[in-house]
This record gives sequence, structure tokens and C-alpha cells, in this order.
Amino acid sequence: MKRGLGLTGWVVMLSLSCADREPGASSWKLSGPAQALVEPSVASQISRALDAAERAGTDPSISRFQVRAATVVEQGGEEHVIVGGNTEYQVPEAIHGETSLLNHVANLLGAEATRAVRFIAFYTEGTCGTSLSCGDCRDYLLATTDFEKLLVVCGQVSDHTVQVRRFAEAVVPEDRFPEVAADQIPLPGSELQSLVQAARQAQSRGITLFTSGERHAGAAGLSIEGNLYRAAGADDAAFHYRYPIGGLLQQAAAQGDYFIKAIVIAGVAGSWPRVSYRDRQYGYESSSFNRRRGMDPIHLILTDGQGRYRLTTFEQALPFAFSTDAFMPRAVDQFLASHDASP
Ligand SMILES: [Zn+2]
Repeated sequence: MKRGLGLTGWVVMLSLSCADREPGASSWKLSGPAQALVEPSVASQISRALDAAERAGTDPSISRFQVRAATVVEQGGEEHVIVGGNTEYQVPEAIHGETSLLNHVANLLGAEATRAVRFIAFYTEGTCGTSLSCGDCRDYLLATTDFEKLLVVCGQVSDHTVQVRRFAEAVVPEDRFPEVAADQIPLPGSELQSLVQAARQAQSRGITLFTSGERHAGAAGLSIEGNLYRAAGADDAAFHYRYPIGGLLQQAAAQGDYFIKAIVIAGVAGSWPRVSYRDRQYGYESSSFNRRRGMDPIHLILTDGQGRYRLTTFEQALPFAFSTDAFMPRAVDQFLASHDASP
């Protein structure tokens, strides 16, 4: 066993040769649907990962919600059990269990080893829910894993049953957003044109010292109250990227303008913009305010800058998402009642 102090707490790596295994030693049981997704050799690895995840160090000093994750990676004829856990600090910010885990795989076994990760197993003392990773973790897993093969495992302590799902359920590429004609978008033509113009203008600005042209986007949003906000992606030397949708929603919130009707995203003219999953998370959380008040969800509109559109919602673009609204609906109601500045 090797121990080392990582960014997110104690990293535990167990190196076991295949001959050291003790099949059946663990009491974890795959649910019926999980058995169809998992080969017997991987089932054994999942059990060992869940046992290791139980011991993963975390520091959820704000939420008190522990995320304990582990995987098993085969390299050089050995199987390596690697763990990760969430830590929280200040405003609130957090390093999440999944990103912690993948970071440790890269630290311990090399950057390419993350592509050999076949599953991420979460040890939960509650009940396995339906939500999958947050938007930012989805971005990181998409970038670092062979995500089409990646499995998400949840082992619940209460009965030691194990659920397994495909991470691909969390992924909706932009080309799956339905393409629509302008007159199918539920906005007056003048509002759509104002949003497109503002998003394209924002896209021509922002800060792109490190960002590739194809990733740079501008966004414009229109509130129910009729106010227009815009923002563009902005990078910096610390790689604390500021996202366009998050930027415009923050401006609207600063005005006490919490209910957004539509957001348009623009990239390079002639191509479809990319919408990061982190930005989808910001939009999903904002749209949950609409849902809380019985309003339509935010219309998410992509423009190619040449008269073509794709139309969806954050609910469609970020399936199996979670939001504050799901954890603390009454707190959201109270917050909106005391902060909403609309008449
Ligand atoms: Zn996350």
C-alpha cells in the first residue's frame, strides 16, 4: 500500500496482482440490471473499489455531504485501486469526488491511464439517486476518459446493493439539439434578433488568450421582465475560466432579475457553438427558478450566425441533473421571495 497526500486529501493506492484477489470476499451485490452491464471480472473490481471508497478521505466542510469514489485500473499486469473524495472551501467552492479520482489516476499512473478507467464507483450511506455528475465533472470526464464505455456505479450501504449506469446517459452533444426554423422559436422575431445580435457581438469580444477559437462563445439572455444581458467566455492565467451563460446569469442575478426567458449562444459565424456542461449546469439551476414558479423552462437557442438555429432546454441538455431546488425547495422559495426584484 502506498499513501500520499494529494490535492483533495489522502490518496490510497493498493497494488494487487491478479493472484492476490479474494473473489467473493465482499458482500456487495449487483442489481439485476447492473449484471447485464458488467462482466464478472469487472464486478469483482467494483466490489474492491467500493470497499476502498468507504475509506476515502473527504472534507465537505459546508454541505456535510460526502462523495467517496474509487476505481480499479489495470496497468502493467497489476490492478490499482485508486480513490477520490470531495473537499469544500469558502464561498462555496468544491473539488468534486469524480474529478479528484481522475486526477489521482493521472498523478499515480500517468495521464493516459485515465482512458483505461472503466468505472467510477461511489460509496453512499444514503440511497442511490437518479442524478449523475454535475456539469463540470461531465466536462472533465468527457475530456479525460473513454466516456462511451465508462460506467457509473453506486453502492448503497443500507443493503449493499450496487446500481450501474452508463455515463453516456449524461451526455447530449450539441448536434442532438433539434434544428428548427426561426419561426418555430417561441419568441417574437424582434426579440430573437436582438438576442442573436447581442450574442454575436459578445462572441467577438471576451478574453481568449488561451482558448481555441472553436470553443469561444458569446451568450445573450432575455429575462421575463424584458432585460437583456450578455457575456462572453473569458480565460486567465490561473485557468479559472469564466463561462458565458454563467456570466450573463450572474449579471441578471445582480439586478434581482431571476427569471430568464431565453438564452442564445453564438460561436464562430458559420459553425455551431459548443455549450460546456458546466454552463449547462448554470442554466439548469437558473431554469429551476422558473420551474419553481410554474413558468416555462429557459429556451436554450444555438445560432450558427447565418440564420440556422437549434432549440432545446437546459433540462434536455443536462439529463439527470441536480439543482438546489431538488435539495432545498423551501430555501429556494424563501430566497426568491426575499430577493426577486420584479414587480
Ligand atoms: Zn461534480
